[in-house]
This record gives sequence, structure tokens and C-alpha cells, in this order.
Amino acid sequence: MALVGGPMGRVVPASRFDTPLSYEALPGMGHAGIVVLDDSVSAAALAQHLYAFAVAESCGSCTPCRVGSAQLARCRDRAALERLLDTMELGSLCGFGQGVPRPLRDLLAAFPEELLPC
Ligand code: SF4
Repeated sequence: MALVGGPMGRVVPASRFDTPLSYEALPGMGHAGIVVLDDSVSAAALAQHLYAFAVAESCGSCTPCRVGSAQLARCRDRAALERLLDTMELGSLCGFGQGVPRPLRDLLAAFPEELLPC
């Protein structure tokens, strides 16, 4: 898989490597820097990295981002995780909290069994 545009960008699974590198095909890909992850990195490991990044970088000024970032790793139910991502995206004050859900939605769509193993 590849992470396109950094930790608030887009995750492209290997099965979709034919996706054009364009803002139309990958909205929210930001600066479009590409990090390709080989099979030694699982979707769950990437999710954990993104969760930790969100917690570390949230400035804490607004509740959806501050609390939401801390709760991401605790979600074990798809509906609950999707509600939390919606809350962060719609309720956060700045682009950081609004952008954290973007790659996580891609991971959830492509690898639901790895993100939600229970
Ligand atoms: S969304 Fe922005 S303002 Fe709100 S806690 Fe996160 S970084 Fe701070």
C-alpha cells in the first residue's frame, strides 16, 4: 500500500495502484508525497502509527480532535469508528482534526478486518 500526501492524505492499497495521481482521483492527497509500504507493514500497524500521530500533534484546543484522537485506538466497532471519524471531520476547528480521518477511512474501506479484528 501507499500513503499519498502524508499522515492526513490518502491510503492507496496495492490493488488500486492504477489510480491516477490526480486531485480528481485522490481528493485530499495534499502535497502528494508518496510513501510506499511493503508487506512487512500491516494496515493495523499503519493505523496505529496514524492514531499516535493524531494524539501527538493535536494541539488540544477543540474537543472533537483532542478527545477523538485519543479514542481512535480504542474503537473496536465499525459503526463507532465511523461516528468518531464523522465527529472529528465535521466538528474539529482546523484542518488537522478535519484531515485525520481521511487516511483512516481509506484503511477502513480497504482493510476492515485488520482495523477491527474483534
Ligand atoms: S482540530 Fe486543530 S484546533 Fe482542534 S485540537 Fe486539533 S489541531 Fe487543535
